[in-house]
Amino acid sequence: MNDFSYTQITAAREAAGLLKSKPATVYIAGGTTLLDMMKANLLTPPHLLDVNQLPFKGIKKTADGLRIGAMERMSDVGEHPLVVQQYPAVSKSLLLAASPQLRNMASIGGNILQRTRCGYFRDAAFPCNKRVPGSGCPAIQGDNHNLAVLGTSESCIATAYPGDLSVALMALDAVLTLENTAGKQRRVPLTEFYLLPGKTPQKETILEPGELIVAVTIPAAAHARRSTYLKVRERTSYAYALASAAVGLDVQNGVIRSARVALGGVGAQPWRSREAEALLTGASATEATFRKAAAAALRAAIPQSENAYKIELAQHTLVRALQEVAG
Ligand SMILES: Cc1cc2nc3c(=O)[nH]c(=O)nc-3n(C[C@H](O)[C@H](O)[C@H](O)COP(=O)(O)OP(=O)(O)OC[C@H]3O[C@@H](n4cnc5c(N)ncnc54)[C@H](O)[C@@H]3O)c2cc1C
Ligand code: SF4
Repeated sequence: MNDFSYTQITAAREAAGLLKSKPATVYIAGGTTLLDMMKANLLTPPHLLDVNQLPFKGIKKTADGLRIGAMERMSDVGEHPLVVQQYPAVSKSLLLAASPQLRNMASIGGNILQRTRCGYFRDAAFPCNKRVPGSGCPAIQGDNHNLAVLGTSESCIATAYPGDLSVALMALDAVLTLENTAGKQRRVPLTEFYLLPGKTPQKETILEPGELIVAVTIPAAAHARRSTYLKVRERTSYAYALASAAVGLDVQNGVIRSARVALGGVGAQPWRSREAEALLTGASATEATFRKAAAAALRAAIPQSENAYKIELAQHTLVRALQEVAG
């Protein structure tokens, strides 16, 4: 590992000077993504700014819904009674992720900004357009069994966000609060936060340099209370999703009043399916409806040499998740 210096900050404004004098400075929260990448020499920041003392804490009800501070730990949020009862999809997405040790260290902000598990991105011996723009994408002709089938481009086919939480947050219309180093805040729906790879896969989110995630707010809704997260993986613990589905339904007298659907493990970003939601809304909550919605969600999929199985897997996962919440 390269040498680096380290400072703790207690307010976003304290980062301004350091980012100016050392522009390659990066933030560290739990370190469970960042330190892995530094040990593999994929990132060599000269300076780390520890954001754990920032006052971005708390899990509380507000007029807009449930506000969760970005410095809260995955385990605390996943087990919080308000999250378990009012947003079961969010609780499950957190408790099915990683291991207990990782969940105790990892923060909500860091989870949202975790990086792809594409093997070529994680190995500095290989070219990779996301890591070194213009160097090529060996995954297209190579090992792509765990990569994306929706939203990919000729430059990159990775699931840029491989995790679970953002899939549930995306389905439930979560909004991020961001703060820049001048102390100015803005709110951005998570559906607008991640960028598709296009020709610039190195640019993954709309975050400006130095900008921090302060909190995530999830609106209260009937479909949020009746939601779930289903994850299919190669083994039952400690593995990323091959496919996952976050769904929320408001069903009255057998008719779906509102529906929310997002998929994980199959998209270049957590994949909200408006097509599936349109088919579900106003329809009867039956298996036939769910199958049509699942087909619509994957209609635009473009498989690679090794990941066509994900199309059927994601459809089954989505149907099962819808059946679970419909009862
Ligand atoms: C073995 C293993 C298995 C895993 N399995 C899963 C899984 O199944 N599902 C899953 O969802 N995840 C999984 N993860 C990923 C894990 O959830 C993330 O590593 C973790 O959530 C990152 O949080 P952190 O606080 O440690 O982030 P850090 O490593 O500290 O930071 C990650 C990135 O976010 C930036 N950052 C952190 N906080 C902020 C902020 N508030 N504002 C702006 N930038 C910020 C950092 O600069 C860095 O670029 C796994 C990780 C490992 C190592
Ligand atoms: S899929 Fe994306 S992350 Fe993986 S090698 Fe290609 S460019 Fe890099």
